[in-house]
Order: sequence, then structure tokens, then C-alpha cells
Amino acid sequence: MEYNPFLNFCKVLDEAAATAKIAPEDYEVLKHPERELKVALPIIRDNGKLEVFEGYRVQHSSLRGPCKGGIRFHQDVNVDEVKALAAWMTFKCAIVNIPYGGGKGGVKVDPHTLSESELEKLTRRYTAAILPLIGPQQDIPAPDVGTNAQSMDWLMDTYSMMRGYAVPGVATGKDIEVGGSLGRTEATGRGIMTVTRLVAEKHGIKKARVAVQGAGNVGSISAKLIAKNLGFDIVAISDVSGGIYNADGLDMNSVGAFLAKKGLLKDYSAQGVKHITNEELLMCECDILIPAALENQITAGIAEKLKASIIIEAANGPTSVEADAVLASRNIDVYPDILSNAGGVVVSYFEWAQNLQSLYWEEADVNRMLDKVMVRAFGDVEKTAEEYGVTLRLAAYITALKRLTRAAKLRGIFPR
Ligand code: GLU
Repeated sequence: MEYNPFLNFCKVLDEAAATAKIAPEDYEVLKHPERELKVALPIIRDNGKLEVFEGYRVQHSSLRGPCKGGIRFHQDVNVDEVKALAAWMTFKCAIVNIPYGGGKGGVKVDPHTLSESELEKLTRRYTAAILPLIGPQQDIPAPDVGTNAQSMDWLMDTYSMMRGYAVPGVATGKDIEVGGSLGRTEATGRGIMTVTRLVAEKHGIKKARVAVQGAGNVGSISAKLIAKNLGFDIVAISDVSGGIYNADGLDMNSVGAFLAKKGLLKDYSAQGVKHITNEELLMCECDILIPAALENQITAGIAEKLKASIIIEAANGPTSVEADAVLASRNIDVYPDILSNAGGVVVSYFEWAQNLQSLYWEEADVNRMLDKVMVRAFGDVEKTAEEYGVTLRLAAYITALKRLTRAAKLRGIFPR
């Protein structure tokens, strides 16, 4: 059967609702995104030829506040993926208890095949196409896979030009000079580091071998902060070109410098380092595995064989539903994406709040507040897991679902 992340989301949702005895009519609405927009994006390529790309913006829920979520530029983007990513944002924001619903956008394109000026044109055309849906009180985009601060700067500028005045609160994850928040670039990785610290405290772990799949913003910063602040060994890290492994721990300063210069790990060499595939990375000798790449990486087959005893999900949806069952039967704890990787959207919330107030915070304050929110959410999910005797993923869904169904009850249905 073809992998459909939105149907997987609905499956986990049903299981969470059944466990918490939430009636189907009280959460049915969450199986239907509020709005789905598909757009065609013509641009003139550098060679003078016209090319039309396909894009989406999905608003899953605005029950708890404006929709919030990133924009992905990737060749595999499709509507079911965007719907799932939007739904996960709704749940993520509910778990960390920030006043947002969930949304997500995507353009089906491999951004590495476009020049800087083509990327700018595509981002601006996409912004113009989704303009009726976005706005600081409606739906607030942010970076995701294949986009970055520059993409958000262009989005904010395009939106502002169409309105006739500067609207920094229309997007988060922007550069500091145009209304970005200190600490936003590192926020998802910092949140992963906090969750790793809390997991280690809970299990009395003093030293751990950590493997990280992915060396983009989230993977590379998580690895760097875990090595630096927790003193754990990063034994493996990978990117699209494959991975590197050293049982004694990689020198993350040297790996970071290499990546900054060359972009890919492919030709990295150092004493004791061997090259492995992405699949080998997932199954390598380690204590903590951090998938920080794309969806559906840990399949049932990999779940049977992987050696880590703890998984902390930094990517969205890296573990398949079937793999989850295998991991549970093997007593491997999975700290789910919608809890673990929420640091990004938490600091997005801080950025948006700073934009709306035109009052900017110091980095230490941003980091302290982020830590506080992550610690609270971690505690809420742990407590729910104990209360119902369920996996952390189900506990995370239940935590969010209770907040969402409560909001739905209070708001009621319009019109009655
Ligand atoms: N794309 C990130 C995520 O999946 C961040 C979203 C945001 O900051 O709005 O959580």
C-alpha cells in the first residue's frame, strides 16, 4: 500500500481518542483540514524558458489560534504530505500550549536545481499565490525542509509590498535585521537538546552514544549542542550523500567546519571515521537515535534491527505506524516529533509576539523561555503516558487532543 502520511495521522488520532474515551463526533473535525489551496507557479528560468511549479498551502485547524507552520521546497512534496505536516503542526502547538492552530505549505521542486534568482522568483510567486490565506492573524509561515531565513525575508517583503507597509509578523524564521528573533535558527536543535537532557535525567544516563540522521539545520545544530552542552558522543551523522561513523565519537567542530565549506559529508575524512549509508546509520551501534531528515525513514524492517534504546524524533513523521508497533514491543522509547521538535515553532511564537509588540528580547531570555516551555510539555506528555499506560506518541496525541476538543467545545459550531 502506498505511504499516505495523512491517513497515518488519522489512524494514530483514532487510537489516541479511543484510549482517552473521546467520542468520534468530538474530534471528527480534525480529520478534515479547514482549507486546502493548490497553486500553479510559473517562473521564467535563467535560460529564458517558462516553467510551472506546483504548490500548496493547507490550513489544518485554527481552533486554538491562527494557523502556523513551515513551507517545504522538496521534489517529493504532495498534498497528502502537506496535509499531514499541517495536522502535526496543530498537535505540536497544542502540546507546547502556544496559541496557534496548524498549517503547512509546500512547493514541488528540488531547490538545489534552481539559481538564487530563480528561488527568489519562485518564493515571491508562491507568496503572491497564497496571499489571500496568509497574514499575522490568519496563517503564519516559517522555514521547513528546503527553505531558510532568506526565503522568509522574501515572503515577508512580497506580502508587505502587496499591502503597502511592512508586516514583519506575517512570517517567522526571518533574518534578525528584518524582524527575526535571536535564537530562532538554533531553536529546533536546542529543543532537541533539551529533550535529550530530560530523557537522560529520567533514565540516569551520564554518557551516551548518539546517532543523528540528517545534517540540515535541525540535525547539525542538535548534534552540535548535544556534544557541546551534554558532553555526549555523536558517533554518526548523515546527509543525502550518506553518513559517517566513528565508534569513539566524531569531532563535531571539524564535521561542522567541513559541512559549512563543502555542503555535503561525502568526502569527509578523519582518523577512525568510516562512511556508511543512511540505512546503516539508523541501525548503527548507539544508545540514542535522532532521525532529523524526512518522513517514513524508520520502517518496520529497520525497527526490528536498530540498536538504540531511545529514539528522539527531530524530523516530522520519521517513524512509520508499523515501525512504532515494533519499537513498542521491543521496549524502545520513542519521544515523538510533535513534542521533541517543537522548539522551532515555540521560538517562532516568540518571534511573532516580538513582531506584534515591536519589542525585542535578548537571546538569553529567548533560550530560557524555550527551555521552560519544553520542560513543561515534556512533563505533560510523561504524565499522560503514565496515566493511560501508553506510548509517548499516544500520550502526546492525547495531551493535544484534550486541549483541542476542549477548545472546540468552548467555541461551539458556527452556525448552530
Ligand atoms: N517547520 C518547523 C516545524 O515543522 C517550524 C514551523 C514554525 O516555526 O512555524 O515545526
